[in-house]
Amino acid sequence: MDGILGTHTHQRGIRPFSGDALLIDGQLFSPLLPEGLRDLPSPPRGASEQEKVSYESKFNLRARWRMMRHSPPDGDGATRWRCPFCSGFLRARNFSRTMRRSKTVPLVSVPDGCDRCCNGILTAQAAEMAWWQRITYGTTAWRISMGRRQLVESVNAALKGVFTDLSRGFMRVLGTTKMTVMLGFTLAAFNLDRIRSFRAKHALDERGVPMERPKQSRARRRTGTWSDLIETTSDPPPE
Ligand SMILES: [Zn+2]
Repeated sequence: MDGILGTHTHQRGIRPFSGDALLIDGQLFSPLLPEGLRDLPSPPRGASEQEKVSYESKFNLRARWRMMRHSPPDGDGATRWRCPFCSGFLRARNFSRTMRRSKTVPLVSVPDGCDRCCNGILTAQAAEMAWWQRITYGTTAWRISMGRRQLVESVNAALKGVFTDLSRGFMRVLGTTKMTVMLGFTLAAFNLDRIRSFRAKHALDERGVPMERPKQSRARRRTGTWSDLIETTSDPPPE
């Protein structure tokens, strides 16, 4: 599934990880992540918008406990990670350094007697991070991103069949270079087709201007200003 953790459940869950972190749903989390946030259920298929939001709130909460990538993959694909307390995602009274951060950073509790948030920067091997993605699984940001992905997939589907069948015909006749040029024209035509469809749907003309512009009569935002007084009275403004 092109490297993106989607809704396929076999990619989900807690995986073994050699370092001092939890590997859950492709993402590294602090080992201090509360038990109740470790194994989160996804909303059932066909859940209402409201239900999705309530499932998501837990994923959003959990995302604060994620490790932040400290450096991009090296030559071997190994990446380095910082704990959420060091990264400024969370504050805890046990770690006095974190309490100097803004009050908008969530304050969480960690087990009594715990006086270190981590053992410094953590290194993860490429194979361990196979399902890592920039946007944390299950969060609101993730859902928005998935919506965008479905859009891309519908374009792919259109190019493969609905709009024109790219896999058939001209592949056989032409070489790769000519094929690339043809593909360019096909994509341009597809874009024009989409634009036309968008305009038709939203009743826009060639320049993208609505064809019947509704009369806009917005109330003036402020009343009793100097300009009001000058317009309606002949008295000079007070000094
Ligand atoms: Zn730390």
